[in-house]
Amino acid sequence: MSNKDRIFLSSPHMSGNEQKYIQEAFDLNWIAPLGNNVDAFEGDLASYNLINDAAVVTSGTAAIHLALRLLNVCKGDTVFCSSLTFVASANPILYQGAKPVFIDSEPDTWNMSPSALRRAFQDAAKQGKLPKAVIVVNLYGQSAKIDELIEICDIYDVPVIEDAAESLGSEYKGKKSGTFGRYGIFSFNGNKIITTSGGGALVSNDVDALKKARFLATQARDKAVHYQHSEIGYNYRMSNIVAGIGRAQLEVLDDRVERRREVFDRYKEAFADQLGFEFMPELEGTKSNRWLTALTIDPEKAGISREEIIEALGKDNIEARPVWKPMHLQPLFDGMDYYSHEKGNSVSDNLFKYGLCLPSGSNMTEEQQDRVITGIKSLLNKKTLSRSF
Ligand SMILES: *Cc1c(COP(=O)(O)O)cnc(C)c1O
Repeated sequence: MSNKDRIFLSSPHMSGNEQKYIQEAFDLNWIAPLGNNVDAFEGDLASYNLINDAAVVTSGTAAIHLALRLLNVCKGDTVFCSSLTFVASANPILYQGAKPVFIDSEPDTWNMSPSALRRAFQDAAKQGKLPKAVIVVNLYGQSAKIDELIEICDIYDVPVIEDAAESLGSEYKGKKSGTFGRYGIFSFNGNKIITTSGGGALVSNDVDALKKARFLATQARDKAVHYQHSEIGYNYRMSNIVAGIGRAQLEVLDDRVERRREVFDRYKEAFADQLGFEFMPELEGTKSNRWLTALTIDPEKAGISREEIIEALGKDNIEARPVWKPMHLQPLFDGMDYYSHEKGNSVSDNLFKYGLCLPSGSNMTEEQQDRVITGIKSLLNKKTLSRSF
């Protein structure tokens, strides 16, 4: 089968307008550095999210790294971080020589558990060593219980970095995801809801802080005619070509959210009566962009396991994957502290054990989605048949 027939989890979905902005950059010979597309993309991102400022960079990971730098996270510091996430949420903590403490999920949003966070803070306060920051992730587009989490962080006066890499365009109580913490970060990696081929953004209402972020992202060059540097800097700024793609992608973001939500609804409807299939919930008062359709498969009730589904779909050239492997289970973070939702009940362990992500691209056709659904249904039928003999 050719690559054309392959159904991906989430693949780039261009609007057609990208070339226009790239051509503009070529016409002006504004290829690099920075330029009109970067300025416009930053302005558009800030106004879309109703936040004061946005700085676009080479990746979401770079944006998290810059946020940690702005909060002065240094060697020996600790940073609390959601455990159920992609490794990029936590790697920048290591870049700074700091130590992550991982916080479990709760069942309502699959995101950071307020009760686990509270226990982590209580212990940290007892030890006289509060974290420098808390990184809250909004998994697969679903916002965490932001109000509860920020309320706890406020008690200890510790700033929040909202990792909204997967939740661009989502809402929490009518406000855009990524705008709740001191800093928010987005990703425009190839698999995200919109993509610039690769890129990210740091957003904040603190305009001075983002000025500093841009300075750090361009090698931290002091104001002098000669090249002088007093701080460690990075080469993290987004190019003007890449930002042109971003401008066109942002124009269609709301369409992409609606389309992904339709994909989710179609899966949910197709398996509405299926025992043992539980779709990722959407917390009341929030709107998820449903970046990826995620569900848990209880093999006892469903009669089939997640692994069997992944394998069967794989044979039909369809990509499906387990949910993220939690950070506290990663060899990289062996020995790091971890706070489970309740004592003896780790929610993220279970989500990892049973959780499945299905193809969810906004460019997936109904016929392609039917192929996924039929693939799973015929596996279910085969199992029921073989059990009845
Ligand atoms: C994709 C992702 C990132 C990293 O973004 P990049 O642009 O790939 O560096 C960070 N956090 C989460 C939760 C992500 O899914």
